[in-house]
Amino acid sequence: MKAAVLTEYRHIEWKEVKTPEIDDSEVLMKVSYASICGSDLHIFNGEFHPRTSTPLIMGHEFGGTVVGVGRNVSVVRLGDRAAVDPISWCGRCAACELRHYPACNSLKLVGVDSDGGFGQYAAVKDFMLHKIDGSISDRHAAIIELLSIGFHACKRAGLAKGDTLAIMGAGRVGQSILQAARTITDETIYVVDILDKRLELARTAWENVVAINSLEHDPAAAIRDLTKGRGVDIAVEAVGHAHPIEGRAHPVGLCIDAIRGAGTVCVLGLGDEPAPLAMKRFIWKEARMVASRVTHGEFKETIGHLSRGHLKPDTLISREMPASQAQQAFELLECRPQDYLKILLAIP
Ligand SMILES: [Zn+2]
Ligand SMILES: [Zn+2]
Repeated sequence: MKAAVLTEYRHIEWKEVKTPEIDDSEVLMKVSYASICGSDLHIFNGEFHPRTSTPLIMGHEFGGTVVGVGRNVSVVRLGDRAAVDPISWCGRCAACELRHYPACNSLKLVGVDSDGGFGQYAAVKDFMLHKIDGSISDRHAAIIELLSIGFHACKRAGLAKGDTLAIMGAGRVGQSILQAARTITDETIYVVDILDKRLELARTAWENVVAINSLEHDPAAAIRDLTKGRGVDIAVEAVGHAHPIEGRAHPVGLCIDAIRGAGTVCVLGLGDEPAPLAMKRFIWKEARMVASRVTHGEFKETIGHLSRGHLKPDTLISREMPASQAQQAFELLECRPQDYLKILLAIP
């Protein structure tokens, strides 16, 4: 088969490789579309080394058709279409004993810790498969993982009907949280970023979204003003690598300042920079801070909403490119964040 192989960091080649073999509990998928994630950009740059090594076929957001079924697999049959939930866990560590799998201390992802979906075929475990019907296109199947990240974040933050929400960061993760949140609460959602195009996307795609450019206004002060001093029920940090802005707190600090007393802050951005925080502002509010990492069973919910037309996956997809141009796609995502949110790789 052909695959986009990360042969060395910062270098992807579309080349002939061995088609993966499956064991009794695995399925062979013919991949239709795979989507490039922010984590893939980190891997591309070698920032996940030594967790990742080259050569590697990245891709943990993908869907396709079942073309091979292991002897013990009963969840799918040949010809079924499915989306792939790429995570697996050890089942033995303290978090796993509590069935809190996203916190497994040896969590593994297909496409990160083993070969994934940037090739024509991928071998995946049966428990990772979520069948989809004709109401969901192949393109959208590759976005289900990202949207599920949004649903998981909402669940972790305890977002409920009637809650107000602030999202710091309107990138891939922030936008997916917005989509998920809109299925839960009709109240105002404040979206904060420094890129106008991303803010515009959030504001025009959904009702009752207030967009705040952090370069122009202090978002925490603006949110306090707009909520008449009350603050939002929940604030989510989905910035990732935060560019320091003169006169602004770190995004996590902005979240603390934006919530009401006894509110919740949920953090997702995987930046390496430390977050300087004035903890007394957090303590005064007796606030709660939770983290959200991957997904935990939200695929079903996401597929349900997608199938009923509650989500807008196309707003996340900036461009589709053939997988043979994966190198160019990574470079575009890196150099032009204002123009590209999600790039889908079409796999022939
Ligand atoms: Zn991802
Ligand atoms: Zn574990």
